[in-house]
Amino acid sequence: MKKHNFSAGPCILPQEVFKEASQAILDYNDSGLSVIEISHRSKDFVDIMEEARSLALELLGLEGKGYKALFLQGGASTQFLMTAYNLLQTKAGYINTGSWSDKAVKEAKLFGEVLEIASSKDANYNYIPKGYEVPGDLDYIHCTSNNTIFGTQIKDFPTSNIPLVCDMSSDIFSRQLDFSKFSLIYAGAQKNMGPAGTTLVVVKEDILGKINRQIPSMLDYQVHISKGSMFNTPPVFAVYTSMLTLRWLKNLGGIAAMEELNEKKAKLIYSEIDVNPLFKGFAAKEDRSNMNATFTLINENLKETFDTMCKEGGINGVNGHRSVGGYRASMYNAMTIESVAALVDIMGDLERKA
Ligand SMILES: *Cc1c(COP(=O)(O)O)cnc(C)c1O
Repeated sequence: MKKHNFSAGPCILPQEVFKEASQAILDYNDSGLSVIEISHRSKDFVDIMEEARSLALELLGLEGKGYKALFLQGGASTQFLMTAYNLLQTKAGYINTGSWSDKAVKEAKLFGEVLEIASSKDANYNYIPKGYEVPGDLDYIHCTSNNTIFGTQIKDFPTSNIPLVCDMSSDIFSRQLDFSKFSLIYAGAQKNMGPAGTTLVVVKEDILGKINRQIPSMLDYQVHISKGSMFNTPPVFAVYTSMLTLRWLKNLGGIAAMEELNEKKAKLIYSEIDVNPLFKGFAAKEDRSNMNATFTLINENLKETFDTMCKEGGINGVNGHRSVGGYRASMYNAMTIESVAALVDIMGDLERKA
């Protein structure tokens, strides 16, 4: 039986995508060849890469606006250093809203001065800082749109003339934003787009080439742009499967349709967390994430019972990250509202039982 998979990442993908990707491993488009054995320079694969790149820009509403989409390797973690390598000349500002932001800060410090313009580290990142000042002399501002571990999500992004760089690993394609406010967006595929192994980078070309530092080819955005995201062998299966997910998303009605569903799912679980006396939410209410809901049991003695009920109900992957404890329900795009309802039912059953 298929489980209700609340895993934070690698995560659930649409069932249709799993099916089509498996078929393509055996025989891609009746070619007699697997999608993972064809040349990445063949027309078949170049078409896949081009469709993936253009779907990403189209879904984000960034076509014809000076942006390029790349599918790179090394995960979002490589983007922590690659953004700084390519953009940090003297000083950058970072908004520190979680462990991933904190790691991005650490990497950027290798390349220049890093100013933490806001941080919620003081409260174990259970909120999004607001009302901070943005200095005018920064090369760029870096933020994390959704804090996967802590279950907070930025609703209002800093506004300034300084290029905005954003790690959207865990909420890309999940909600409507004016994406043209960002100069560079990156996202590891495995949270909301595809299997692990590729990272989407969407970069406005005019922010590149402004630093006086030699950049190794593999870490240079301009090199990857000039080679159509095929400077070296791309992770063909991860790119193909991400492309299928983007197609699925487009056919469903794009980000607008997805956002509506994601809001319904989030409302369902948060209202249970708020109404059920056995549970308590972790993140500040106004900053709650629509992707990752973090919550704890008020009475830890019920843990074993709840865990058993989840297991029997086919619920997978709801254990919280060690830095928060409790539970985390990740509800990425491919999760159905029925799966969220299954978890909410179990939370209600626990209350009736306890
Ligand atoms: C998972 C995650 C990362 C790390 O991604 P990798 O691809 O494993 O390097 C970075 N940022 C955020 C917001 C994440 O959720």
